[in-house]
Amino acid sequence: MKKILHFIDGEYSNPVSDLWIEGINPATGEIITQISNGDVRDVEKAFQAATRAFSIWSNYSSTERFQILNRIAELIEENLEELAIAETIDTGKPLRLSKEVEIPRAASNFRFFATASLQFASESHSMNQAINYTLRQAIGVVGCISPWNLPLYLFTWKIAPALATGNCVIAKPSEMSPSTAAMLGELCNKAGLPKGVLNILQGEGKGVGNAIVNHPGIKAISFTGGTKTGQHISAIAGPMFKKLSLELGGKNPCLVFDDCNLELTVSEVARLAFSNQGQICLCGSRILIEETIYEEFKNKLIEKVSKLIVGDPLDPKTQFGSLISFEHKKKVQSYIQLAIEEGGNLLYGGNEIQLEGRCKNGSFISPAIFENLGPKCRTNQEEIFGPVITLQKFKGELEAIELANDSVYGLAATVWTENVRKAHRVAQKLNTGIVWINCWLLRDLRTPFGGMNASGVGREGGLEAMRFFTEAKNVCVYYN
Ligand code: NAD
Repeated sequence: MKKILHFIDGEYSNPVSDLWIEGINPATGEIITQISNGDVRDVEKAFQAATRAFSIWSNYSSTERFQILNRIAELIEENLEELAIAETIDTGKPLRLSKEVEIPRAASNFRFFATASLQFASESHSMNQAINYTLRQAIGVVGCISPWNLPLYLFTWKIAPALATGNCVIAKPSEMSPSTAAMLGELCNKAGLPKGVLNILQGEGKGVGNAIVNHPGIKAISFTGGTKTGQHISAIAGPMFKKLSLELGGKNPCLVFDDCNLELTVSEVARLAFSNQGQICLCGSRILIEETIYEEFKNKLIEKVSKLIVGDPLDPKTQFGSLISFEHKKKVQSYIQLAIEEGGNLLYGGNEIQLEGRCKNGSFISPAIFENLGPKCRTNQEEIFGPVITLQKFKGELEAIELANDSVYGLAATVWTENVRKAHRVAQKLNTGIVWINCWLLRDLRTPFGGMNASGVGREGGLEAMRFFTEAKNVCVYYN
Protein backbone atom coordinates (compact mmCIF):
# COMPACT_ATOMS: atom_id res chain seq x y z
CA MET A 1 0.00 0.00 0.00
CA LYS A 2 1.34 3.40 -0.98
CA LYS A 3 2.21 5.60 2.01
CA ILE A 4 1.66 9.35 1.91
CA LEU A 5 4.39 10.88 4.08
CA HIS A 6 5.05 14.30 5.47
CA PHE A 7 7.60 16.44 3.63
CA ILE A 8 9.66 18.22 6.28
CA ASP A 9 13.04 19.91 5.85
CA GLY A 10 13.30 18.60 2.31
CA GLU A 11 12.76 14.98 3.27
CA TYR A 12 9.85 12.59 3.43
CA SER A 13 9.11 11.28 6.92
CA ASN A 14 6.61 9.20 8.87
CA PRO A 15 4.32 10.91 11.38
CA VAL A 16 5.80 11.02 14.88
CA SER A 17 2.64 9.34 16.19
CA ASP A 18 2.89 6.55 13.61
CA LEU A 19 -0.84 6.97 13.10
CA TRP A 20 -2.27 6.64 9.60
CA ILE A 21 -5.54 7.37 7.82
CA GLU A 22 -6.92 5.21 5.03
CA GLY A 23 -7.12 7.00 1.70
CA ILE A 24 -10.06 5.80 -0.40
CA ASN A 25 -10.62 6.10 -4.13
CA PRO A 26 -14.23 7.34 -4.17
CA ALA A 27 -14.84 6.08 -7.70
CA THR A 28 -14.10 2.46 -6.77
CA GLY A 29 -14.39 2.30 -2.98
CA GLU A 30 -10.89 0.78 -2.76
CA ILE A 31 -8.38 1.72 -0.08
CA ILE A 32 -5.47 3.13 -2.04
CA THR A 33 -3.14 4.84 0.42
CA GLN A 34 -2.09 5.11 4.04
CA ILE A 35 -1.88 8.79 4.88
CA SER A 36 0.31 10.18 7.67
CA ASN A 37 -1.90 11.57 10.39
CA GLY A 38 0.20 14.43 11.71
CA ASP A 39 -0.09 16.13 15.04
CA VAL A 40 1.42 18.94 17.05
CA ARG A 41 4.85 17.23 17.13
CA ASP A 42 5.10 17.15 13.35
CA VAL A 43 4.09 20.81 13.23
CA GLU A 44 6.89 21.63 15.66
CA LYS A 45 9.44 19.75 13.53
CA ALA A 46 8.24 21.59 10.45
CA PHE A 47 8.30 24.89 12.30
CA GLN A 48 11.92 24.40 13.38
CA ALA A 49 12.92 23.54 9.82
CA ALA A 50 11.03 26.52 8.39
CA THR A 51 12.54 28.88 10.95
CA ARG A 52 16.07 27.74 10.04
CA ALA A 53 15.31 28.11 6.34
CA PHE A 54 13.79 31.58 6.70
CA SER A 55 17.12 33.36 7.14
CA ILE A 56 18.28 31.82 3.84
CA TRP A 57 15.14 32.14 1.74
CA SER A 58 14.13 35.63 2.81
CA ASN A 59 17.60 36.82 1.79
CA TYR A 60 17.42 35.36 -1.71
CA SER A 61 17.10 37.99 -4.40
CA SER A 62 13.82 38.15 -6.26
CA THR A 63 15.60 36.82 -9.35
CA GLU A 64 16.79 33.76 -7.44
CA ARG A 65 13.28 33.15 -6.12
CA PHE A 66 11.87 33.63 -9.60
CA GLN A 67 14.21 31.01 -11.05
CA ILE A 68 13.29 28.34 -8.51
CA LEU A 69 9.54 28.96 -8.55
CA ASN A 70 9.52 29.08 -12.33
CA ARG A 71 11.39 25.77 -12.40
CA ILE A 72 8.72 24.25 -10.12
CA ALA A 73 6.11 25.38 -12.68
CA GLU A 74 8.05 23.65 -15.46
CA LEU A 75 8.39 20.46 -13.42
CA ILE A 76 4.64 20.41 -12.74
CA GLU A 77 4.10 20.60 -16.50
CA GLU A 78 6.67 17.90 -17.17
CA ASN A 79 4.85 15.63 -14.69
CA LEU A 80 1.35 16.64 -15.75
CA GLU A 81 0.13 13.18 -16.69
CA GLU A 82 1.22 11.55 -13.45
CA LEU A 83 -0.12 14.39 -11.31
CA ALA A 84 -3.46 14.43 -13.14
CA ILE A 85 -3.95 10.69 -12.66
CA ALA A 86 -3.12 10.97 -8.94
CA GLU A 87 -5.59 13.84 -8.56
CA THR A 88 -8.34 11.91 -10.29
CA ILE A 89 -7.74 8.74 -8.29
CA ASP A 90 -7.87 10.66 -5.00
CA THR A 91 -11.01 12.65 -5.81
CA GLY A 92 -13.08 10.86 -8.47
CA LYS A 93 -13.04 13.88 -10.77
CA PRO A 94 -12.89 13.39 -14.53
CA LEU A 95 -9.33 12.97 -15.77
CA ARG A 96 -9.88 15.58 -18.46
CA LEU A 97 -10.61 18.18 -15.76
CA SER A 98 -7.41 17.27 -13.92
CA LYS A 99 -5.41 17.32 -17.15
CA GLU A 100 -6.89 20.33 -18.85
CA VAL A 101 -7.64 22.62 -15.92
CA GLU A 102 -6.27 21.69 -12.54
CA ILE A 103 -2.68 20.63 -13.04
CA PRO A 104 -2.00 23.26 -15.74
CA ARG A 105 -3.43 25.83 -13.37
CA ALA A 106 -1.11 24.66 -10.56
CA ALA A 107 1.82 25.30 -12.91
CA SER A 108 0.37 28.72 -13.84
CA ASN A 109 0.11 29.61 -10.17
CA PHE A 110 3.82 29.03 -9.68
CA ARG A 111 4.73 30.79 -12.92
CA PHE A 112 2.49 33.76 -12.17
CA PHE A 113 3.85 34.34 -8.67
CA ALA A 114 7.43 33.64 -9.81
CA THR A 115 7.14 36.61 -12.15
CA ALA A 116 5.19 38.59 -9.55
CA SER A 117 8.23 38.38 -7.28
CA LEU A 118 10.16 40.27 -9.99
CA GLN A 119 7.43 42.88 -10.42
CA PHE A 120 6.32 43.49 -6.84
CA ALA A 121 7.00 47.04 -5.73
CA SER A 122 5.96 49.19 -2.83
CA GLU A 123 4.80 52.77 -2.48
CA SER A 124 6.56 55.96 -1.55
CA HIS A 125 4.87 59.16 -0.37
CA SER A 126 6.71 62.44 -0.40
CA MET A 127 6.02 65.30 2.02
CA ASN A 128 7.63 68.68 2.44
CA GLN A 129 11.18 67.86 3.59
CA ALA A 130 10.51 64.21 4.13
CA ILE A 131 9.90 61.09 2.19
CA ASN A 132 8.09 57.94 3.25
CA TYR A 133 8.80 54.63 1.66
CA THR A 134 7.05 51.42 2.50
CA LEU A 135 8.91 48.18 2.89
CA ARG A 136 7.01 44.98 2.21
CA GLN A 137 8.83 42.34 4.20
CA ALA A 138 8.25 38.62 4.45
CA ILE A 139 6.25 37.66 7.53
CA GLY A 140 8.28 34.60 8.54
CA VAL A 141 6.68 31.17 8.83
CA VAL A 142 3.14 31.04 7.47
CA GLY A 143 0.46 28.33 7.36
CA CYS A 144 -1.53 27.37 4.25
CA ILE A 145 -4.50 25.01 4.59
CA SER A 146 -6.50 23.90 1.57
CA PRO A 147 -9.54 21.75 0.69
CA TRP A 148 -10.11 18.65 -1.44
CA ASN A 149 -12.17 19.98 -4.31
CA LEU A 150 -9.37 21.43 -6.49
CA PRO A 151 -6.44 20.00 -4.57
CA LEU A 152 -3.18 21.03 -6.23
CA TYR A 153 -4.77 24.07 -7.86
CA LEU A 154 -5.81 25.64 -4.53
CA PHE A 155 -2.78 24.38 -2.61
CA THR A 156 -0.38 26.13 -5.00
CA TRP A 157 -2.59 29.23 -5.18
CA LYS A 158 -1.54 29.89 -1.58
CA ILE A 159 1.94 28.44 -1.46
CA ALA A 160 3.28 30.20 -4.55
CA PRO A 161 2.65 33.79 -3.36
CA ALA A 162 3.81 32.91 0.16
CA LEU A 163 7.14 31.67 -1.24
CA ALA A 164 7.42 34.45 -3.82
CA THR A 165 7.39 37.03 -1.02
CA GLY A 166 10.15 35.27 0.91
CA ASN A 167 8.19 33.36 3.55
CA CYS A 168 8.71 29.79 4.63
CA VAL A 169 5.58 27.68 4.55
CA ILE A 170 3.90 24.93 6.53
CA ALA A 171 1.15 23.68 4.26
CA LYS A 172 -1.55 21.10 4.71
CA PRO A 173 -3.68 19.63 1.93
CA SER A 174 -6.97 17.97 2.71
CA GLU A 175 -6.75 14.44 4.08
CA MET A 176 -9.19 13.49 1.29
CA SER A 177 -6.77 14.51 -1.49
CA PRO A 178 -3.17 14.26 -0.22
CA SER A 179 -1.31 12.71 -3.17
CA THR A 180 -0.45 15.60 -5.47
CA ALA A 181 0.62 17.78 -2.55
CA ALA A 182 2.94 14.98 -1.43
CA MET A 183 4.36 14.73 -4.96
CA LEU A 184 5.03 18.47 -4.99
CA GLY A 185 7.74 18.05 -2.33
CA GLU A 186 9.92 16.03 -4.67
CA LEU A 187 9.46 18.56 -7.47
CA CYS A 188 10.52 21.36 -5.12
CA ASN A 189 13.71 19.47 -4.27
CA LYS A 190 14.43 18.96 -7.97
CA ALA A 191 13.87 22.66 -8.62
CA GLY A 192 16.45 23.55 -5.96
CA LEU A 193 14.14 24.98 -3.32
CA PRO A 194 16.25 25.05 -0.15
CA LYS A 195 15.33 22.51 2.51
CA GLY A 196 12.74 23.65 5.00
CA VAL A 197 11.34 26.46 2.86
CA LEU A 198 8.22 24.44 2.07
CA ASN A 199 7.02 21.80 4.50
CA ILE A 200 3.97 19.72 3.64
CA LEU A 201 2.12 18.07 6.50
CA GLN A 202 -0.55 15.45 6.02
CA GLY A 203 -3.49 14.49 8.18
CA GLU A 204 -6.76 15.56 9.66
CA GLY A 205 -7.92 19.10 10.21
CA LYS A 206 -8.78 18.57 13.85
CA GLY A 207 -5.24 17.29 14.51
CA VAL A 208 -2.47 18.68 12.37
CA GLY A 209 -4.59 21.50 10.87
CA ASN A 210 -5.58 22.72 14.29
CA ALA A 211 -1.97 22.50 15.48
CA ILE A 212 -0.82 24.72 12.60
CA VAL A 213 -3.45 27.33 13.46
CA ASN A 214 -2.58 27.20 17.17
CA HIS A 215 1.20 27.41 16.77
CA PRO A 216 2.28 30.77 18.22
CA GLY A 217 5.23 31.09 15.81
CA ILE A 218 3.13 30.76 12.65
CA LYS A 219 2.20 34.35 12.03
CA ALA A 220 -0.30 34.11 9.19
CA ILE A 221 -2.89 31.58 8.11
CA SER A 222 -4.27 31.35 4.62
CA PHE A 223 -7.24 29.00 4.68
CA THR A 224 -9.65 27.73 2.05
CA GLY A 225 -12.48 25.46 3.11
CA GLY A 226 -15.88 25.39 4.74
CA THR A 227 -17.43 28.38 6.52
CA LYS A 228 -17.74 26.52 9.85
CA THR A 229 -14.05 25.58 9.78
CA GLY A 230 -13.25 29.20 8.90
CA GLN A 231 -15.18 30.38 11.96
CA HIS A 232 -13.29 27.94 14.16
CA ILE A 233 -9.91 29.03 12.77
CA SER A 234 -10.82 32.66 13.13
CA ALA A 235 -11.74 32.18 16.79
CA ILE A 236 -8.26 30.77 17.47
CA ALA A 237 -6.17 32.99 15.22
CA GLY A 238 -7.97 36.27 15.97
CA PRO A 239 -6.93 36.61 19.63
CA MET A 240 -3.38 35.62 18.63
CA PHE A 241 -3.38 38.56 16.15
CA LYS A 242 -2.42 36.37 13.22
CA LYS A 243 -2.93 37.64 9.72
CA LEU A 244 -5.85 35.71 8.34
CA SER A 245 -7.16 35.07 4.85
CA LEU A 246 -10.34 33.00 4.70
CA GLU A 247 -11.84 31.68 1.45
CA LEU A 248 -15.04 29.92 2.48
CA GLY A 249 -18.29 28.47 1.18
CA GLY A 250 -20.84 29.83 -1.25
CA LYS A 251 -24.36 29.55 -2.58
CA ASN A 252 -23.80 31.24 -5.86
CA PRO A 253 -26.61 32.82 -7.86
CA CYS A 254 -26.80 32.71 -11.61
CA LEU A 255 -29.04 35.41 -13.15
CA VAL A 256 -30.48 34.48 -16.53
CA PHE A 257 -32.26 37.38 -18.28
CA ASP A 258 -34.62 36.91 -21.20
CA ASP A 259 -32.29 38.84 -23.49
CA CYS A 260 -29.41 36.40 -22.98
CA ASN A 261 -27.85 34.37 -25.76
CA LEU A 262 -29.96 31.32 -24.97
CA GLU A 263 -27.85 28.54 -26.48
CA LEU A 264 -24.62 29.84 -24.92
CA THR A 265 -26.31 30.39 -21.56
CA VAL A 266 -27.87 26.95 -21.38
CA SER A 267 -24.57 25.35 -22.18
CA GLU A 268 -22.59 27.47 -19.71
CA VAL A 269 -25.14 27.08 -16.92
CA ALA A 270 -24.89 23.29 -17.28
CA ARG A 271 -21.12 23.67 -16.96
CA LEU A 272 -21.13 26.11 -14.04
CA ALA A 273 -23.64 23.99 -12.14
CA PHE A 274 -22.12 20.56 -12.58
CA SER A 275 -18.38 20.88 -13.25
CA ASN A 276 -16.46 18.68 -10.83
CA GLN A 277 -19.87 17.26 -9.79
CA GLY A 278 -20.88 20.67 -8.42
CA GLN A 279 -17.94 20.60 -6.02
CA ILE A 280 -16.31 23.90 -6.97
CA CYS A 281 -16.82 26.80 -4.59
CA LEU A 282 -17.64 28.92 -7.65
CA CYS A 283 -20.31 26.59 -9.05
CA GLY A 284 -23.74 28.20 -9.39
CA SER A 285 -26.46 26.46 -7.41
CA ARG A 286 -29.33 28.98 -7.44
CA ILE A 287 -30.37 29.45 -11.06
CA LEU A 288 -32.61 32.51 -11.33
CA ILE A 289 -34.47 32.74 -14.63
CA GLU A 290 -36.62 35.55 -16.02
CA GLU A 291 -40.18 34.25 -16.13
CA THR A 292 -40.66 35.04 -19.84
CA ILE A 293 -38.11 32.36 -20.82
CA TYR A 294 -38.45 30.11 -17.78
CA GLU A 295 -40.08 27.09 -19.46
CA GLU A 296 -37.92 27.22 -22.58
CA PHE A 297 -34.72 27.62 -20.57
CA LYS A 298 -35.70 24.86 -18.14
CA ASN A 299 -36.40 22.35 -20.92
CA LYS A 300 -33.20 23.13 -22.75
CA LEU A 301 -31.16 22.91 -19.56
CA ILE A 302 -32.61 19.51 -18.67
CA GLU A 303 -31.86 18.28 -22.17
CA LYS A 304 -28.29 19.53 -21.96
CA VAL A 305 -27.65 18.05 -18.50
CA SER A 306 -29.13 14.71 -19.54
CA LYS A 307 -26.35 14.44 -22.13
CA LEU A 308 -23.53 14.71 -19.59
CA ILE A 309 -21.44 11.55 -19.71
CA VAL A 310 -21.31 10.07 -16.21
CA GLY A 311 -18.63 7.44 -15.86
CA ASP A 312 -15.26 6.15 -14.75
CA PRO A 313 -13.21 9.26 -13.95
CA LEU A 314 -10.17 7.76 -15.66
CA ASP A 315 -12.07 7.35 -18.94
CA PRO A 316 -11.13 10.37 -21.09
CA LYS A 317 -14.75 10.66 -22.32
CA THR A 318 -16.20 11.09 -18.81
CA GLN A 319 -17.63 14.52 -18.02
CA PHE A 320 -19.15 13.78 -14.63
CA GLY A 321 -17.31 11.58 -12.13
CA SER A 322 -17.87 10.47 -8.56
CA LEU A 323 -18.37 12.59 -5.47
CA ILE A 324 -15.37 12.99 -3.18
CA SER A 325 -16.49 10.36 -0.65
CA PHE A 326 -19.30 8.10 0.48
CA GLU A 327 -19.89 10.38 3.43
CA HIS A 328 -20.25 13.37 1.14
CA LYS A 329 -22.61 11.40 -1.09
CA LYS A 330 -24.81 10.77 1.96
CA LYS A 331 -24.79 14.48 2.75
CA VAL A 332 -25.81 15.38 -0.80
CA GLN A 333 -28.54 12.72 -0.77
CA SER A 334 -29.87 14.09 2.51
CA TYR A 335 -30.22 17.50 0.81
CA ILE A 336 -32.06 15.92 -2.10
CA GLN A 337 -34.44 14.38 0.43
CA LEU A 338 -34.76 17.72 2.21
CA ALA A 339 -35.56 19.49 -1.06
CA ILE A 340 -38.39 17.01 -1.66
CA GLU A 341 -39.69 17.50 1.90
CA GLU A 342 -39.59 21.27 1.37
CA GLY A 343 -41.96 20.84 -1.59
CA GLY A 344 -39.39 20.86 -4.38
CA ASN A 345 -40.28 19.33 -7.71
CA LEU A 346 -37.41 17.10 -8.84
CA LEU A 347 -37.16 17.77 -12.57
CA TYR A 348 -34.14 15.66 -13.30
CA GLY A 349 -31.63 13.25 -11.70
CA GLY A 350 -30.67 13.01 -8.06
CA ASN A 351 -30.60 9.23 -8.15
CA GLU A 352 -27.77 6.97 -7.10
CA ILE A 353 -25.85 5.59 -10.07
CA GLN A 354 -24.30 2.18 -10.11
CA LEU A 355 -21.74 1.84 -12.86
CA GLU A 356 -20.49 -1.45 -14.17
CA GLY A 357 -16.98 -2.84 -13.82
CA ARG A 358 -14.20 -1.15 -11.88
CA CYS A 359 -16.47 1.63 -10.56
CA LYS A 360 -19.42 -0.50 -9.48
CA ASN A 361 -18.91 0.47 -5.82
CA GLY A 362 -18.19 4.15 -6.45
CA SER A 363 -19.95 7.14 -4.93
CA PHE A 364 -21.87 8.33 -7.98
CA ILE A 365 -25.12 10.23 -8.15
CA SER A 366 -26.66 11.93 -11.14
CA PRO A 367 -26.95 15.74 -11.36
CA ALA A 368 -30.18 16.96 -9.75
CA ILE A 369 -32.40 19.85 -10.88
CA PHE A 370 -35.25 21.13 -8.69
CA GLU A 371 -37.93 23.78 -9.09
CA ASN A 372 -40.73 25.14 -6.88
CA LEU A 373 -38.50 25.97 -3.95
CA GLY A 374 -38.76 29.42 -2.38
CA PRO A 375 -35.71 31.58 -1.68
CA LYS A 376 -35.90 31.13 2.10
CA CYS A 377 -35.97 27.34 2.24
CA ARG A 378 -32.90 25.52 3.49
CA THR A 379 -32.18 24.04 0.06
CA ASN A 380 -31.76 27.57 -1.28
CA GLN A 381 -29.90 28.90 1.74
CA GLU A 382 -27.40 26.20 2.73
CA GLU A 383 -24.32 25.18 0.81
CA ILE A 384 -24.70 21.62 -0.50
CA PHE A 385 -21.41 21.55 -2.41
CA GLY A 386 -22.64 18.86 -4.77
CA PRO A 387 -24.57 18.41 -8.01
CA VAL A 388 -27.88 19.88 -6.85
CA ILE A 389 -29.34 23.07 -8.31
CA THR A 390 -32.65 24.87 -8.01
CA LEU A 391 -34.49 26.93 -10.61
CA GLN A 392 -36.38 30.04 -9.49
CA LYS A 393 -38.40 32.51 -11.56
CA PHE A 394 -38.02 36.28 -11.38
CA LYS A 395 -39.75 39.25 -12.94
CA GLY A 396 -37.37 42.07 -13.91
CA GLU A 397 -34.01 43.28 -12.75
CA LEU A 398 -34.90 44.32 -9.22
CA GLU A 399 -36.40 41.01 -8.23
CA ALA A 400 -33.42 39.19 -9.76
CA ILE A 401 -31.01 41.21 -7.61
CA GLU A 402 -33.14 40.75 -4.51
CA LEU A 403 -33.21 36.97 -4.95
CA ALA A 404 -29.52 36.82 -5.75
CA ASN A 405 -28.60 38.77 -2.61
CA ASP A 406 -30.89 36.72 -0.36
CA SER A 407 -28.03 34.69 1.09
CA VAL A 408 -25.56 34.77 3.97
CA TYR A 409 -22.88 33.94 1.42
CA GLY A 410 -21.29 36.26 -1.13
CA LEU A 411 -18.70 34.48 -3.23
CA ALA A 412 -19.51 34.58 -6.95
CA ALA A 413 -22.40 35.39 -9.27
CA THR A 414 -22.95 35.09 -12.99
CA VAL A 415 -25.14 37.37 -15.11
CA TRP A 416 -26.46 36.32 -18.51
CA THR A 417 -27.75 39.14 -20.73
CA GLU A 418 -26.85 40.76 -24.04
CA ASN A 419 -27.82 44.18 -22.64
CA VAL A 420 -24.53 45.74 -21.63
CA ARG A 421 -26.05 48.51 -19.51
CA LYS A 422 -28.14 46.07 -17.56
CA ALA A 423 -25.14 43.80 -17.05
CA HIS A 424 -23.09 46.60 -15.46
CA ARG A 425 -26.02 47.85 -13.36
CA VAL A 426 -26.70 44.41 -11.97
CA ALA A 427 -23.01 43.63 -11.33
CA GLN A 428 -22.74 46.76 -9.18
CA LYS A 429 -25.62 45.67 -6.97
CA LEU A 430 -24.67 42.05 -6.36
CA ASN A 431 -23.18 41.31 -2.95
CA THR A 432 -20.47 38.96 -4.14
CA GLY A 433 -16.69 39.23 -4.45
CA ILE A 434 -16.75 38.04 -8.07
CA VAL A 435 -19.24 38.67 -10.88
CA TRP A 436 -18.92 37.00 -14.27
CA ILE A 437 -20.95 38.40 -17.15
CA ASN A 438 -21.69 35.95 -19.96
CA CYS A 439 -18.89 33.66 -18.81
CA TRP A 440 -17.83 31.53 -15.88
CA LEU A 441 -14.48 30.58 -14.35
CA LEU A 442 -12.62 32.85 -16.72
CA ARG A 443 -9.67 33.77 -14.54
CA ASP A 444 -6.98 36.39 -14.82
CA LEU A 445 -4.62 35.66 -11.95
CA ARG A 446 -4.00 39.37 -11.39
CA THR A 447 -7.59 39.99 -10.26
CA PRO A 448 -8.78 39.87 -6.63
CA PHE A 449 -10.31 36.53 -5.76
CA GLY A 450 -12.61 35.83 -2.81
CA GLY A 451 -15.94 36.47 -1.24
CA MET A 452 -17.77 38.63 1.27
CA ASN A 453 -19.95 37.84 4.32
CA ALA A 454 -19.98 34.12 5.14
CA SER A 455 -17.85 33.45 2.04
CA GLY A 456 -14.75 34.83 3.64
CA VAL A 457 -12.42 37.59 4.64
CA GLY A 458 -9.71 39.07 2.43
CA ARG A 459 -8.82 38.37 -1.17
CA GLU A 460 -6.31 36.16 -2.91
CA GLY A 461 -4.73 36.66 -6.33
CA GLY A 462 -2.24 39.13 -7.79
CA LEU A 463 -1.17 41.98 -5.57
CA GLU A 464 -3.74 41.06 -2.91
CA ALA A 465 -1.88 37.83 -2.23
CA MET A 466 1.54 39.49 -2.35
CA ARG A 467 0.32 42.05 0.17
CA PHE A 468 -1.26 39.44 2.42
CA PHE A 469 1.98 37.52 2.70
CA THR A 470 4.05 40.60 3.60
CA GLU A 471 4.17 43.05 6.47
CA ALA A 472 4.08 46.70 5.44
CA LYS A 473 6.60 48.87 7.23
CA ASN A 474 6.61 52.59 6.58
CA VAL A 475 9.94 54.40 6.87
CA CYS A 476 9.76 58.19 7.13
CA VAL A 477 12.99 60.08 6.33
CA TYR A 478 13.28 63.73 7.27
CA TYR A 479 15.87 65.45 5.12
CA ASN A 480 15.89 69.11 5.96
P1 NAD B 1 -13.08 21.82 5.33
O1 NAD B 1 -13.30 23.13 5.98
O2 NAD B 1 -13.67 20.62 5.95
O3 NAD B 1 -11.52 21.51 5.19
C1 NAD B 1 -10.63 22.37 4.53
C2 NAD B 1 -9.24 22.12 5.07
O4 NAD B 1 -9.21 22.51 6.43
C3 NAD B 1 -8.79 20.67 5.04
O5 NAD B 1 -7.42 20.60 4.78
C4 NAD B 1 -9.09 20.22 6.47
O6 NAD B 1 -8.32 19.12 6.88
C5 NAD B 1 -8.73 21.46 7.25
N1 NAD B 1 -9.38 21.57 8.55
C6 NAD B 1 -10.55 21.04 8.95
N2 NAD B 1 -10.78 21.35 10.24
C7 NAD B 1 -9.75 22.12 10.66
C8 NAD B 1 -9.41 22.76 11.88
N3 NAD B 1 -10.20 22.66 12.94
N4 NAD B 1 -8.28 23.47 11.94
C9 NAD B 1 -7.48 23.59 10.86
N5 NAD B 1 -7.72 22.99 9.68
C10 NAD B 1 -8.86 22.27 9.58
O7 NAD B 1 -13.56 21.99 3.83
P2 NAD B 1 -13.59 20.89 2.68
O8 NAD B 1 -14.74 19.98 2.93
O9 NAD B 1 -12.23 20.33 2.51
O10 NAD B 1 -13.89 21.81 1.41
C11 NAD B 1 -15.16 22.18 1.00
C12 NAD B 1 -15.45 23.60 1.40
O11 NAD B 1 -14.44 24.47 0.90
C13 NAD B 1 -16.75 24.12 0.81
O12 NAD B 1 -17.44 24.83 1.80
C14 NAD B 1 -16.29 25.04 -0.30
O13 NAD B 1 -17.20 26.05 -0.65
C15 NAD B 1 -15.05 25.60 0.28
N6 NAD B 1 -14.17 26.14 -0.75
C16 NAD B 1 -14.04 27.50 -0.84
C17 NAD B 1 -13.24 28.05 -1.84
C18 NAD B 1 -13.07 29.54 -1.99
O14 NAD B 1 -12.17 29.96 -2.69
N7 NAD B 1 -13.90 30.35 -1.35
C19 NAD B 1 -12.57 27.19 -2.72
C20 NAD B 1 -12.74 25.82 -2.59
C21 NAD B 1 -13.54 25.30 -1.59
